[in-house]
Parts: sequence; structure tokens; C-alpha cells
Amino acid sequence: MSEPMLEAGAPVQAQHLLQALAVRACPVCGSTDDSCERFPERIDAARIDGMSYASRKEPEFMSLRMVVCPSCQLLYAPRVPNAAFLARAYGETGYDSDSEARYAAASYAAALQPWLATLPDRAAALEIGSGNGALLPHLIDADFAEVVGIEPSREAAQSAPPDVRARIRVETFDPARLPAGHFSLVIANQTLEHIDRPLELMHAALLLLKPGGALMVVSHDYRHWLMRLLGRRAPIIDIEHLQLFSRASIGTALARAGFEPPVVRPFRNRYPASYWTRLLPLPAALKRPMLASMHAGCLQPLGAMLLSARVGNMFVWAHKPLSRPKT
Ligand SMILES: [Zn+2]
Repeated sequence: MSEPMLEAGAPVQAQHLLQALAVRACPVCGSTDDSCERFPERIDAARIDGMSYASRKEPEFMSLRMVVCPSCQLLYAPRVPNAAFLARAYGETGYDSDSEARYAAASYAAALQPWLATLPDRAAALEIGSGNGALLPHLIDADFAEVVGIEPSREAAQSAPPDVRARIRVETFDPARLPAGHFSLVIANQTLEHIDRPLELMHAALLLLKPGGALMVVSHDYRHWLMRLLGRRAPIIDIEHLQLFSRASIGTALARAGFEPPVVRPFRNRYPASYWTRLLPLPAALKRPMLASMHAGCLQPLGAMLLSARVGNMFVWAHKPLSRPKT
């Protein structure tokens, strides 16, 4: 049942993916008990193409085998593509979601606004996984003196307007290349799900933050009622996701990384109806004509309507302690 299909004419990328799967323990707590399977592996090599690692794409309903960690409740893949494969896949990935990225950024900025007053200052903000830089102008508007984005996809960064592009560093995130204790705010939205070692990224954020600074995360909550209802048809059960957090497991992870107990709130996304329709678990034969009509046909006014909803994302806000606890 979980045997992957690999056809003779399959793209090279898919063959590399299937050959490069490496075994790992729970990336938050290190448990090696992977007996609680939630979703079996579903990889159709013939369908993997350049878009499989782009964010905000149409869901493909392919996923790695996902298990729930009995110790920390993380939903994670015990076999994942190796780091070199992922770095290449994200570096080469296609990018076609400028307008959706702008809507997402406006939703992030609205969620961030009430928490800005809790920061020690607005000297410097860093966004890890900044895509086309859509959030960076919001950070500039919020009076951060220095704004830096890190983005591995050259194509995504190149679609930023020139003034924003200048603030994006096209590279895989490496904290050694950034000043420690420097940033008042570090942002990692929809990023922790995609990396092999999420705890390392949290450690790195702690290192880069000044005391009292905060990490903002927007992340899927796999225990949200809608995700539980949709089960394996949920758009988050996707080959790109190496792990998915819940409110409890992200709290555990941040505590292990050294953060103060986080604030976790439901996150409200605001998108045009046509975008929501793309995400619906409907048959392609029904969805394609609906989308075509929303983009250029009689359903255009409906497709352009902005709808905001809580669809299983959470906003997480965690401060770096003002003084390091004695160990
Ligand atoms: Zn665990």
C-alpha cells in the first residue's frame, strides 16, 4: 500500500527523492518510537515536478509516511529526503504565487501588530524564508531600522520589487553568517514544517535574538478540528512537510530550544475566494472549471472576494529570556 510508484519516464528529481530518504528520530524530542502511524507514504514519482516544493501550490495529496511521536505529540516523517536534496529542491523551485504571498503577508502583519510593543526595541528584524519579500515592507512600516530576509529560492527573491530585493539574502539559512544577539524580532512563518531539524532553527533564532527579543512563527496546527476532519485529504498532509506541530508540540519544542513559554493563538488568513477554492479537496474535473471561471469568467466577482478564516494555522510568539537561566 505504501509502495512508491516509480515509472521509467519519471523526472530525475523524483528518483533522487526516493533514493535519498534517510531515517531520523523525532526532530523535537529524539524519540525513536515511530510505531504510531497516522498517514502512510504516498509518493507518485510521475507527478513530482518543479512545483512540488513551491509554497501555496495546489495540493497534490502526496506525503511522506507520517507518525505521531508518543512523547511530544509532533506529527513527523521518520524517513525524509536528505539536506542536499532539500536545499536543491527549494533552490530550484518554481514560483507562481506573488499575489497570494501579498495576502499572506498582510495577514502576518495584522497578527504581528499587537505584539510589537512587547519587543525591547525595533532595531533589527530578520525573516527566515522570506519568499518574494512580501512581509518586509510591513516590517519597514512598523519602524524596524534594519530588515533582513533570508530566502533559498532565487526565483522567489527575484520577483521582489528592487527596493525589497536589496534586503533579501538568497542563501540557505545559516546562523553563523548573521550577527548573534542582534535581532529584536526573528520571524519563521510556514517554515518549520519544511526543514529537517526544526529545533536547530529555534536554537539559531534564540542565538540571533537579543535578550527579551521574540520569535514569531505561523505554523499549521495538525490537531485543529478542520485538519482532523479532512484527514489525509487535508492540504497540510503534503510531501513538502517533514513535520507538523500542534499547540502542545510547538510549546515543547520552544521550551527545549530555551524560549520562555510561548503565546499560541489561532491565526486568521485573509485570501480571495479563488485561492480558497484552489485548496479545497475537490476533484480536479470540478475544480479546474470553477477556478477558470473565477479568474476570467462569470464567477470573477466571487473569485476576487476577500474572505478571512481560521483554517488550522496558529500564531506563536515566544520571547528569549532576559537572562540565561543557570544550568
Ligand atoms: Zn517527540
